[in-house]
Amino acid sequence: MTKTAIITGSTSGIGLGIAKAFAKADMNVVINGLGSPEDNEAVRAEVDALGKGETLFHGANMMEPDQIEELVTSTEAKFGAVDIIVNNAGIQFVEKVEDFPVSKWDAIIAINMSSTFHTTRAAFAGMKERGFGRIINVASAHGLVASPYKSAYVTAKHGVLGFTKTIALEGAEFGVTANSICPGYVETPLVTGQIADTAKARGISEEEVISNVILKAQPTKQFVQTEQVASLALYLASDAAAQITGAALPIDGGWTAQ
Ligand code: NAD
Repeated sequence: MTKTAIITGSTSGIGLGIAKAFAKADMNVVINGLGSPEDNEAVRAEVDALGKGETLFHGANMMEPDQIEELVTSTEAKFGAVDIIVNNAGIQFVEKVEDFPVSKWDAIIAINMSSTFHTTRAAFAGMKERGFGRIINVASAHGLVASPYKSAYVTAKHGVLGFTKTIALEGAEFGVTANSICPGYVETPLVTGQIADTAKARGISEEEVISNVILKAQPTKQFVQTEQVASLALYLASDAAAQITGAALPIDGGWTAQ
């Protein structure tokens, strides 16, 4: 039977890579994100063309619990089930803790962490009832280790790992798995956007940020590719991954092995 997946924050970067991989596997895919209606429709059409499933766009803001619930219930009403949720939406902000804006802290905790609870809460009963579910949380290497000036992000991502383990236990006897993917640096707009801020916070050039901060963290000295994260997500969504649950899986070029 055709599986239905919701992927939050999937109009760009890693989420878009996952949406494309799932569409190629003939799933129904609900993509989500901020942006203009024209851009969102262009992304939807691009993803839709990749496979036999149907691709919809839903504009739920991951800071708004009611909109998140509507994303899940409208998907369930349209396709009859939500089989897979990829909690991927996320933002970053880099600043010393003493100068960290309260509004940025609240937004990062809401989008990067609490939205994961809101999607799961709305979909979990249906998954348990049907005896199949996959919660795939795109956390980060920063769910396992910290870096300075990223207090909100590191806090949110560590929180996602704890939440994932808890729901893995709650879903274990019902065919519902929950796992965190922990990427290192992936070359997406989220990363390129923070290069200038990191340079400012550390008082170094942007080139030095790339070589001495970003790729220094990764022993392979290479960025992770969105397609590599997408194929891990596709595997976790499959029947073959039924016994992987509660895990935090690094895909970080060796960063967290150090
Ligand atoms: P990105 O900026 O390319 O994409 C972010 C997506 O989230 C976009 O579709 C955007 O519209 C959406 N989004 C942002 N705020 C939203 C909101 N309030 N409501 C709904 N959608 C919203 O980012 P990315 O690099 O692809 O990151 C995706 C996820 O991967 C994030 O959770 C991020 O923390 C995580 N991650 C990224 C990296 C990396 O190096 N890029 C590394 C580890 C983890």
